[in-house]
This record gives sequence, structure tokens and C-alpha cells, in this order.
Amino acid sequence: MLIVPEREIADLMTRDAAFHAVEGVFAAMESKNAENFPVVREAIGHEDALYGFKGGFDKVGMALGVKAGGYWPNNLEKHGQINHQSTIFLFDPDTGKVSSMVGGNLLTALRTAAASSVSIKHLARGDAKVMGMLGAGHQAAFQLRAALEQRDFEKVIGWNRHPDKLTSLEKIANEAGLPFESVELDQLGHDADVIISITSAFAPSLLSEHVSAGTHIACMGTDTKGKQEVEAALLARSTVFTDEVAQSISIGEAQHAVAEGLINESDVNEIGAVINGAHAGRSSDAEITLFDGTGVGLQDLAVAASVVDLAVKKGVAIEVDF
Ligand code: NAD
Repeated sequence: MLIVPEREIADLMTRDAAFHAVEGVFAAMESKNAENFPVVREAIGHEDALYGFKGGFDKVGMALGVKAGGYWPNNLEKHGQINHQSTIFLFDPDTGKVSSMVGGNLLTALRTAAASSVSIKHLARGDAKVMGMLGAGHQAAFQLRAALEQRDFEKVIGWNRHPDKLTSLEKIANEAGLPFESVELDQLGHDADVIISITSAFAPSLLSEHVSAGTHIACMGTDTKGKQEVEAALLARSTVFTDEVAQSISIGEAQHAVAEGLINESDVNEIGAVINGAHAGRSSDAEITLFDGTGVGLQDLAVAASVVDLAVKKGVAIEVDF
């Protein structure tokens, strides 16, 4: 068995490798060559922790495995560890024998940023110039870095509930040679050609009336029942895409628009269909496209398999007789 520890991931995994791994797995999901297994997520009644498993099998990438982990809210304060903790286990699809154990903390951020990036590549207008960020937490920085590689952006604007936190995004924009402006929600929706929302909110911030025609929005924060980042009416105005339809309508941003009868399950399209050429994607410069990125286990397996290959090439994978 090969072990790739968390400490090695930053030096191994590139945004480019994460992008291609995630784009490939979305394509495999749409062509029914890859399947996510039912997600388990439980409150364990200890340390207020949420713990669970996300697994699946990708027959194209031959990645079989599971990400185990969750959220320990007291970690930072009590133990100096980050609150999100996860480990990815890969198994040999021919024998079922465990093949690798990979640190999953940084990979989770990279695979989540890769998902919105894939959506920008395939759905945003080619002439997009203004990148808008809604949220400025841990994931937002990864999201922005990856997004800036997808179009020739000229400016970054951002809104956060606590605007002082936007300095982390300003730094990333400036490092990319772009100006940054902190704005109100109506300006964010009006000026941005691409918007990524990555908050843990349970009520919408961005309203439909804020958003201009032609915008691409990647809603990345909503991954649980009850969470919501944008007004449900915005989904009714948009062509909606997702990683996985079943998750989108139950735990993703689309859950609210479906529950309110504003859209149907059949209105939600798999991004893999656009990647595979089965759906044309954006049909005009005025269309609003919205990607509901709920986060699937196959993304984790794809980036883990990719990082194991890189670790072997660089000679940093630890081999244990197991
Ligand atoms: P974080 O705690 O570091 O940041 C949270 C962000 O949400 C901050 O910008 C905060 O200001 C904002 N926020 C919180 N409550 C809000 C409210 N009521 N209104 C507006 N903004 C509010 O969290 P993070 O690690 O950056 O994660 C953000 C979200 O992304 C979480 O909900 C997390 O579960 C989700 N997530 C999704 C995926 C996926 O694959 N889709 C993967 C990882 C994380």
C-alpha cells in the first residue's frame, strides 16, 4: 500500500492536475461510467463532530474508493488542527485490496475549486472580464486562484458578510496583477461576468434582481439540506447545471427552487453532458448559466489517484507492506 501524507500534497498536486481529474470524472459520470455511492454523514455525539463517507467507482479512471472524514468544530481551538479532516482510501478494482491512503484536506479544497473552474471553462462567456466573489472564507481563496486561470479577467470584485475578510481575496487578485474592489451585492450582481458563491449561509444573499444577463454563477457553498446562497428565483431565470442531479435537488442550491416548484428535476443538467458534447451549454451571450456544485466523492477519488501517480513519480510515496 502507498501512503501520501497530507504534508506532501501541497508540493505535489497542481491546479492543472486537479482540473483535469475533475473534468474527466464529470464526463465519466455523465456517460454512466462512474457512479457515486450513497453518502453517509452522521453526528457522532462527540465533540459536536459530523463524520461520514463519500465513495464511488470510476471505470474510466479505474478509481475505486472512499473519502472518510468530516467536520470537528472545536479542532482549531482545542487541538490546533483544522476543523475539516479527511482521508481518502483507494482500492484495487481488480482485487478489492487497499492500494493507497492519501491526505484529503488540501485535496478537498483543490477539487472543489476545480469544479467551479470546469464550469467556468464550459459555461462562462468567452469575453468575461469581471470576476465576482461571494464569500471570503477558507475555500474562497482556492476558488478565486483557480477561476482566474479560465478567462482573461481584468478585475475582481467581492462581497462578504464581514468585508474586512476580503483582504485575503484582494491579495490573490493583486498577485495575479488585477485590481480588487469590495462591493455591495447589487453591484456584484450587476458588474460581474462570472460569480462564485462559497459561503455557509442558510439564507440567500444574492437576489435574482441583482444579476445581469449573460452572467455565469457557480454556487459552491450549498452542500447540505437547508443551506442557500442565492434566491431560488435566480435558478428559474438560469439554465442550471450541476455535478450530480440527485444531490443538486436534495442538498444543493437547486433544492429550494425545486421545493418551491420554480424548476423541475428535468431542468437540471449534468455538466458532464456539456463536457461530452451532449448538451450545447451556453446558447447566447444573454443567457444566465448557473452551476450548482454540490461536491461528489468521485472528485475526491480522482484527485487522490492523480496525486498518488505524482507521488510515485517524485519518489515521495511511502510504501508499506499491508
Ligand atoms: P468558512 O467557514 O471558512 O467560510 C464561510 C463563509 O461563509 C465566509 O465567507 C462567511 O462570511 C460566509 N457566511 C457565513 N454565514 C453567512 C451568511 N449567513 N450569509 C452570508 N455569508 C455567510 O467555510 P469554507 O471552508 O470556506 O466553506 C464554505 C462553504 O463551502 C461551506 O458551506 C462548506 O460546507 C462548503 N463546501 C462545499 C464543497 C463542495 O464541494 N461544494 C466543498 C467544500 C466546502
